[in-house]
Amino acid sequence: MTTPVLRSRLPHVGTTIFTEMSQLAAEQGAVNLGQGFPDFACDPKLIGLVDEAMRAGHNQYPVMTGVPALRAAIAAKIAALYGRSYDANSEITVTSGASQAIQTAILSSVHPGDEVIVIEPAYDCYAPAIALSGGVVAPVAMRVGSEGYSVPWDAVAAAVTPRTRMIVVNSPHNPTGSILRAADLDALAAIVEGTDILILSDEVYEHMVFDGQRHESLSRHPRLAERAFVISSFGKTYHVTGWKVGYVAAPAAMMVEFRKVHQYNVFTVNTPMQHGIAAYMADPAPYLGLPAFYQAKRDLFRAGLAGSRFELLPADGTYFQCVRYGAISDLPEAQFAKWLTREAKVAAIPVSAFYGQPTESGVVRFCFAKKDETLHKALETLSQL
Ligand SMILES: *Cc1c(COP(=O)(O)O)cnc(C)c1O
Repeated sequence: MTTPVLRSRLPHVGTTIFTEMSQLAAEQGAVNLGQGFPDFACDPKLIGLVDEAMRAGHNQYPVMTGVPALRAAIAAKIAALYGRSYDANSEITVTSGASQAIQTAILSSVHPGDEVIVIEPAYDCYAPAIALSGGVVAPVAMRVGSEGYSVPWDAVAAAVTPRTRMIVVNSPHNPTGSILRAADLDALAAIVEGTDILILSDEVYEHMVFDGQRHESLSRHPRLAERAFVISSFGKTYHVTGWKVGYVAAPAAMMVEFRKVHQYNVFTVNTPMQHGIAAYMADPAPYLGLPAFYQAKRDLFRAGLAGSRFELLPADGTYFQCVRYGAISDLPEAQFAKWLTREAKVAAIPVSAFYGQPTESGVVRFCFAKKDETLHKALETLSQL
C-alpha cells in the first residue's frame, strides 16, 4: 500500500492562536476576551424577520448576486451614509460573510507573481487568500507609539513595485482599534493615482467608530472608490457572527470579475437570512445606535483598567482594546497571553499573531463585545495585576 504524498497549498498555516487561546480559556474556566464575537443575543426582531421569511417560503436558491431587496437596502445605506450611489444590480453582491468577499476579491484580481501590500498587524484571512492566488504578500508594518497605531504611508509608497496589484486596508482596524482619517485616504489616493493598483477595503467595523469621529469609508472618496472593493459584514453589525452574511460594493467592471469567481465558489448565500436582514435594514436605528452602544462598553472597560499597570492604547473604533503590559511582565506576547489566561483567568490575543514574521510589541488585544457582567468579571482580576 502506498499513501499519496500531500503537497500543501498552504504549508505555513497551522492551528491558529485564536483556537489555541479559546481552548485554553475553556480548560481554565477563564473569561474569554480573546475571540472577537459578542456573548449577548441579537435583536429578537431580526430573528422574527428571518423566521417569517422561511415560513413565507424563501428557502430555495436566490439569484446569484443576492436577494434584490437586500442589494437595494445596501445601496441605499451606502448612499445615505457615505454619498456614493452604487448600482444595486451591477455593483453590489451579497457574500457568505466578509471572509468570502475578501477571498473572492483577491482570487478574482491577483495573478501568480502579483504583489499585494498588506499593512500589519493584519486580520488573518488576507495572506492565505493571496497565497492561494499565487500572489505574494508585501508586508508594511504600522507605526506604534504612545498615540497608538498609524499607517506609515511613506513606507506603503516605498513598497509599491511594478508588480503591485492590490493594497489591502482595514478601518476600523482589527486588531489595533485604530481608524483611518481623511488625510490617510488622501495619502492612499496619491499613492495609487495613475496606477492599475486595486484596493480591498475591509470595513466590517464601519458602524463602530467612537467619540463623534466619522467612519472614512473608501466609498466616500471618489478617486479611491473607483478602484476599491468595499467589504462589510452583517455579522459584526447585527451581533450575528455565526450567520456569515456580508457584502461587497465595487465599480461594475471589477464586480464582473468578482462575480465570475463568486458564481463558482459559493454561487449564492442563504436566502431566508437575506430576506430577514433586508426587512430589518428598513430601520437604520440598530446600526446608527451602534457607536453609542459599543462606546459605553469601551468606556466601562477602559475605566476598569485605568488604575492598573496596563497601558491603554487609543481605541477609536472596533470592539477591541489593545494594551501594553510591559509594567507587568517581560514575557513575549503569546506567552503573556497564556500566563494571563492561567493566572488572571482572562484570555486575550497576542498582537504578534497578526504579523507574517515574528514581531513583538508587548501588546495584547482584549475584545469588549461582551455583556457588562462579563467585562466586570474580567476587570476584577485584570485591575489587580
Ligand atoms: C470578523 C472579520 C472579518 C470576517 O467577517 P465575516 O463576516 O465573519 O466573514 C473580516 N475582517 C475583519 C477585520 C474581521 O474582524
